[in-house]
Amino acid sequence: MPHLSWEATLERLDDAAILVGADPDIVRLLRLPERVLEVSVPVRMDDGGVEVFTGWRVQHDTTRGPGKGGLRFHPDLDVDEVKALAASMTFKTAIADLPFGGAKGGVRCDPTKLSLGELERLTRRFTYEISPLLGPDRDVPAPDVNTDGRVMAWMMDTLSMTTGQHLGGVVTGKPLSIGGTRAHAGATSTGVLICVRAAFRELDLPLTGSRAAIQGFGKVGGPLAFLLASAGMRVVAVSDVGGAIVNEGGLDPGGLADHVALAGTVAGFARSDPIDPAELFAQPCELFVPAALGGVITAEVAARLGAHVVVEAANGPTTRAAEPVLDERGVVVVPDILANAGGVTASYFEWAQARQGYAWEEELVAERLRKGMEAAFTTVWARAEGLGVSLRRAAFALALERVAEAIAARGLFP
Ligand code: NAD
Repeated sequence: MPHLSWEATLERLDDAAILVGADPDIVRLLRLPERVLEVSVPVRMDDGGVEVFTGWRVQHDTTRGPGKGGLRFHPDLDVDEVKALAASMTFKTAIADLPFGGAKGGVRCDPTKLSLGELERLTRRFTYEISPLLGPDRDVPAPDVNTDGRVMAWMMDTLSMTTGQHLGGVVTGKPLSIGGTRAHAGATSTGVLICVRAAFRELDLPLTGSRAAIQGFGKVGGPLAFLLASAGMRVVAVSDVGGAIVNEGGLDPGGLADHVALAGTVAGFARSDPIDPAELFAQPCELFVPAALGGVITAEVAARLGAHVVVEAANGPTTRAAEPVLDERGVVVVPDILANAGGVTASYFEWAQARQGYAWEEELVAERLRKGMEAAFTTVWARAEGLGVSLRRAAFALALERVAEAIAARGLFP
């Protein structure tokens, strides 16, 4: 599976630097991550043997605040991708105007092949190995692909037990029972919906009755199908790792979620027809949301994409080569570093609540999330119009400006 590459990240950074006339010294600084920690993670397996996995934590830039970014468990993960994802977090937190820097981490492993006990031992040992980098004021992980609140709870417990302190603010995406925030679960999907609404409004497209296709039906794609249908859209096609389905009249997201809970995949859903997963991209519709892994919209896919608007819920779904193809075809793309920033915004609220020792009401979290995402969208949209460039180039330009301003303000140590 192709993925977001470090090289593509550098190209986007260099493009932004030209757009805003950034100080070359600062750009040179951002062309390398601050810290890359590679660890080996030995795990006692259920059969009595020991397997040794490889994991990473990368801090790309922590000028604007502690590192922030998810942890991913995936068999294809490598350090190049972790670096690229960490840099994306630097730009994402800047666009959402959160007091965080950018980080990312993960372990190369196939969690579907691990028992619950093996998963817990892997998580705890990995946490211990990267613990010199972590802390509420240093670096604050969160869930990402194949990790969840349970994994965050094990991490928080490991760090609290080894330091003898209750470290509520050291990870986000925790269960509510140990200091998670209300409204965290659907925050990324809610942020995506806010971007969909805003983009359709700017483009004068009606939301009601418009068709949407979604790739991925996990923590982001699943709730998003509900939200889009509730907003009046017809979700006509959905895919996941097990297959792709279509229903021109609109899939029932509730029925589909029940089916996935039992079958483990969208494939085989009764009120739908199967399609080749590669055909999902060509499905005629107004909106396409990639909500699975990176690198899926290649130049070839871009040339036959059936949608007018793409809102990137996944991280790095569009390759560099696909960008000019989409631009030429007039496809409007709301980039990942803006579109999926709802998750890290809710993470920020969780971290702030941990530091205050005061849990916010759900309405307050939802209202602040809405305001934050709308402000980010409006600022990026205006910048794109001002510069006469795509939303992605404008988003990187805005982010670089904010990060560069912070670096200049702090000066170079020593
Ligand atoms: P998840 O593991 O819960 O779900 C991933 C989904 O993608 C699953 O439905 C899986 O079957 C599907 N998938 C995997 N491989 C596929 C393939 N080859 N073809 C089609 N579908 C495939 O992960 P998630 O948390 O929903 O994250 C999805 C994307 O959103 C990732 O890129 C992640 O980095 C990004 N993201 C997630 C969050 C969050 O809050 N969870 C926040 C920001 C960005």
